[in-house]
Amino acid sequence: MPTDTAPSRMKLVVTGGAGYVGSVCTARLIEAGHEVTVVDDLSTGHADAVPEGARFVEGDAAEVAGTLLGQGFDGVLHFAAKSLVGESMHDPGLYWHGNVVTSLRLLDAMRTHGTPRLVFSSTAATYGEPETSPITETAPTRPTNTYGATKLAIDHAITSYARAHGLAAVSLRYFNVAGAYGRYGERHTTETHLIPLVLQVATGDRAQVQIFGDDYPTDDGTAVRDYIHVTDLADAHLLALEHARSGEHDIYNLGNGTGFSVRQVIEACREATGHPIPAVVAPRRAGDPAVLVASSERARTALGWKPERTDLVGIVADAWQFTQDRKDANPA
Ligand code: UDP
Repeated sequence: MPTDTAPSRMKLVVTGGAGYVGSVCTARLIEAGHEVTVVDDLSTGHADAVPEGARFVEGDAAEVAGTLLGQGFDGVLHFAAKSLVGESMHDPGLYWHGNVVTSLRLLDAMRTHGTPRLVFSSTAATYGEPETSPITETAPTRPTNTYGATKLAIDHAITSYARAHGLAAVSLRYFNVAGAYGRYGERHTTETHLIPLVLQVATGDRAQVQIFGDDYPTDDGTAVRDYIHVTDLADAHLLALEHARSGEHDIYNLGNGTGFSVRQVIEACREATGHPIPAVVAPRRAGDPAVLVASSERARTALGWKPERTDLVGIVADAWQFTQDRKDANPA
């Protein structure tokens, strides 16, 4: 039954707990004393990234979690998703089915089994090209890519399920997640994100980094993003679980509140790694807005959340440590 009082020790399903953000959140949930079952189909996640102490069930988020929920759980943290913007434009079906249909089936299973709480991984991509900066939760939602459109569709579905069926739901709209937490970090087979790509130059796996556009209306001409440390992001999930209220769907933006340009990120990587990191200017990447910076005021006020790891060099240094440790463990 839906409830407003969160138990201190919760029995939770984490879909996508073998992925980057999901594994860090799982590790933090276990440290906080919760009992976690990870469901992941390993399509992009890694079995060895499932934290110790979590039970792991391999399989589809809707199918497996849907069955598991019959055992009685206090909540679901739903990370499992397709999340590559470019791929979402070439193969939209993968995103409408993989994200929207899967999430609807999960919502139905939660309803069937009376699972009271949901924390959902939404994204800044639901806003599209912003009219004002920083972006608040009241900004218009006009996604410019299929990935953002599917996440927004799920947010709408969650709102109506919460209202109609008493679900206590929170969507967290991530900006640019970065950094690592010990052995849990970013390890995508198809890497498109700036920081991991820059660090590949520092490890010698890539000759140089490309700067996608230096003619944006920003101080140094390169695009500005809001990089949030993955542990700060994870902490917001724990707070969201505690603050979820039956019948309500709360939405929070999560970012540092400070924008950094592509050139500033590369410079921070040079500082953290001691590597010169050659960079060349390339054309803009289609669909990239000039500036995406979050207002996280609502999360600060309502959840009592405060990002602790806001220094860019520090964020990059954690990702670099993770990258080096993996390189040492898996030499080419
Ligand atoms: N970017 C870049 N070179 C790269 C990868 C990314 O200049 O090799 C830029 C990208 O155009 C964007 C910023 O870095 O302005 C962050 O991109 P990322 O893919 O990490 O995150 P996004 O903001 O697209 O979610």
